Amino acid sequence: MTRDLSTPSEINWAGNHRYAGMIHRPRTVDEAASIVRESHSVRGIGSRHSFTDIADAVDLIDLSSIGRPPEFNADARSIAVSGTASYADVARSLRPHGAALRNLASLPHISVAGAISTGTHGSGAAHGNLATSVVGLEFIASSGEIISIDRQTPDFEGMVVALGALGVITTVTLDVDFDYEIAQHVYNDLPLDLVVDQLGMILNAAYSVSIFTTFAGSVRGQVGQVWIKRRTDGSDQSMSPRSTFLDAPAATIQHHPVPGLDASSCTRQLGEPGLWSERLPHFRMGFTPSSGNEIQSEFFVDAEDGDAAFDALRRVSADFSDRLMVAEVRAIAADEMWMSPHYQRASVGFHFTWLAGNNDGVVRTVQQALEPFAPRPHWGKFFDATLFDPSTAYEMFDDFVEMTVRLDPHGVFRNSWWRRVISS
Ligand SMILES: Cc1cc2nc3c(=O)[nH]c(=O)nc-3n(C[C@H](O)[C@H](O)[C@H](O)COP(=O)(O)OP(=O)(O)OC[C@H]3O[C@@H](n4cnc5c(N)ncnc54)[C@H](O)[C@@H]3O)c2cc1C
Repeated sequence: MTRDLSTPSEINWAGNHRYAGMIHRPRTVDEAASIVRESHSVRGIGSRHSFTDIADAVDLIDLSSIGRPPEFNADARSIAVSGTASYADVARSLRPHGAALRNLASLPHISVAGAISTGTHGSGAAHGNLATSVVGLEFIASSGEIISIDRQTPDFEGMVVALGALGVITTVTLDVDFDYEIAQHVYNDLPLDLVVDQLGMILNAAYSVSIFTTFAGSVRGQVGQVWIKRRTDGSDQSMSPRSTFLDAPAATIQHHPVPGLDASSCTRQLGEPGLWSERLPHFRMGFTPSSGNEIQSEFFVDAEDGDAAFDALRRVSADFSDRLMVAEVRAIAADEMWMSPHYQRASVGFHFTWLAGNNDGVVRTVQQALEPFAPRPHWGKFFDATLFDPSTAYEMFDDFVEMTVRLDPHGVFRNSWWRRVISS
């Protein structure tokens, strides 16, 4: 086995998980395949932005040393990129072609393979999560064979959000749009009651909307900030730019989602138009947002239940507020991917940025408050697996597990996270 380009003991972005496995950096796909063939416990690893041991195994394969130039296909309107490419890399490759992705997560630093494997998403009631842009994948299966799949492949819907259990993803082909510009406005101090009453309207007010709040407990509590990202070409149903939104004034200075933090790492606001890739994420490319000192959790409910779920969280917020830095509420369209947290359910996502440290109690509080709404957790973030049963939350669960066993009969890609969360 090739071990000369491997390093032990790296930590994840948040610094709350030290990988137990050896990290390999093969220089060719063949080298990566031979590591897979010889290992009894192996996984692909991306940019290490997950908050748990989901990416851990005895042998971890980081493909970032394999040069795989992006291939733009103008006829198919798609781009094939290395699984290890970041969304910033993808945006740079699309720029000369006047092409764009339909959505991005809050920061562009995460890898494409890691993001799609966990159903990572941005915001926008009309947009599916990032995995919904995938039209094809190439991966190293447990046998070491390189397998290519596309939307015509049977079970494709089960193979994209696959939680790392499919194999090591070498190439991802993404559907692209023509490029577009976004202008971003931040509105401050919307009353919480109004937000709960008008949640659907607010989340549908523009191409992409994020509400940042601390769920201040009192009925008179203020919500904080609403970030409205609208297309400047008027092709979506975005509200027109205005100086107030539901009586809340538009901000006149740049904001960071966490009150009091320096906004220089954030994408430009104040209505200044910019390319999609420079406005859809909250954090700027080429700028490293803080690394660590926070833990994230996120839970998705049916969009129909968004207001009731918001209210339920508000009622228990006193029990978690001392650990909460900020929460973000976003909208995600339904999709057909078996293990997507948004499978057949237009969703509202409640994201929590916690102070670093032990958040077991507050996460339990949140999960229990959301329990009446059948919450699905974000796979890459921190949640209490004992309070969540994926076999009831996901209709295609049995088919998914059966598919992973078929593709990987000896379970080399099924790690301890899998045994704890998915199936022992
Ligand atoms: C600061 C910050 C901001 C975030 N913002 C958002 C957000 O806006 N929206 C959101 O939904 N999530 C967000 N997340 C969560 C993040 O997007 C997910 O945890 C995502 O999975 C991270 O991707 P990664 O490349 O770091 O994957 P890793 O953490 O490295 O791995 C995650 C999973 O993907 C698998 N994987 C990675 N690479 C490969 C590969 N090549 N082949 C096969 N499997 C692979 C791993 O085995 C593992 O199962 C954020 C996280 C952080 C730290």
